[in-house]
Amino acid sequence: MGKINKSITELVGRTPLLELVNYEKKNNLEAKILVKLEYFNPNQSVKDRIALAMVEDAEKKGLLKPGYTIVETTSGNTGIGLAAIAAAKGYKFKVYVQDNVSKERFQVIQAFGGETIKLSEEPVVARVLQETNGDFVAAIDALRNEVLAGQENIFFVDQVSNPANPAIHEATTGPEIWEDTEGNVDILVANVGTGGTVSGTGKFLKSKNSDIKVVAIQPGPNSLPSDSNPEPEEITGVHPFEGVPKERIPSTMDLNIYDEKVEVETIEAYKAAREVAKTDGILIGTSSGGAIHAATVLAKRPENKGKTIVAVLPDTGLRYLSTNLFNEEYQG
Ligand code: PMP
Repeated sequence: MGKINKSITELVGRTPLLELVNYEKKNNLEAKILVKLEYFNPNQSVKDRIALAMVEDAEKKGLLKPGYTIVETTSGNTGIGLAAIAAAKGYKFKVYVQDNVSKERFQVIQAFGGETIKLSEEPVVARVLQETNGDFVAAIDALRNEVLAGQENIFFVDQVSNPANPAIHEATTGPEIWEDTEGNVDILVANVGTGGTVSGTGKFLKSKNSDIKVVAIQPGPNSLPSDSNPEPEEITGVHPFEGVPKERIPSTMDLNIYDEKVEVETIEAYKAAREVAKTDGILIGTSSGGAIHAATVLAKRPENKGKTIVAVLPDTGLRYLSTNLFNEEYQG
């Protein structure tokens, strides 16, 4: 029987799991590390899942109609996913992008016909970012309440408060892991940006087996801006959730879902990504490297001997060639 797809919307999800067999051997690991390769999505990141889900949810609710412009603010991958879905469904797309986002991302969004605006170039948002010392949640509130309020024929996606974001991970990412492992999974490792991945996937897996441990990744102290280092190399799309005021946590992040937080420094994420490229032939982004680093820390613990760890790898390394990710000379 043939299988001809008629839209990229049919190509989202059902990504493969890969055991890092060579990496495990090289590092003498006695636990299994399975990685979920989200770069198999049609636009190479986990965000294709939420882009499609949030757009179709809005269509169903009558919030998005033909002729409307889809608007979002994002560190990149959500913008790329939405730009492609908007193109395929015939909507216009406009995205406010954080300034530190790699240039490949702007170029991809523009290739899909999307309009990109740097957050710092929107005067109201720039003022709030300055007043709050870079509070992204406050900046999005200002964008929603002061810039977009009153504009007609737009749909503001708002991935940090849109319940369709964690819901699609509960409906797809979690079940895919459960089915592909036939329920043999002990630990889930996921990054936290909006928190959609860890919250939705974690909720589904715990509903199947409450003993499954959920580990959430937070950037380490050397990878966050500080007085001594105002512009560190950051892990794209990954944000702190502990030690952060509650009002700055996206509502898509369920703070009750995780059993443990592991801190990962950017250089550790780089090194893990460089290593698996050479051992197992997968080219992944910085946060994916972070997930492998965290999985390795867990795999080395004696109590995890024989266990199966699943790490969700958000995107492709091709999106980071202009950064230091694969620059071997960069050692932090
Ligand atoms: N890594 C990358 C590269 C991302 O773009 C994102 C999303 N911003 C994440 C990790 C975190 O995923 P989530 O928003 O589902 O928590």
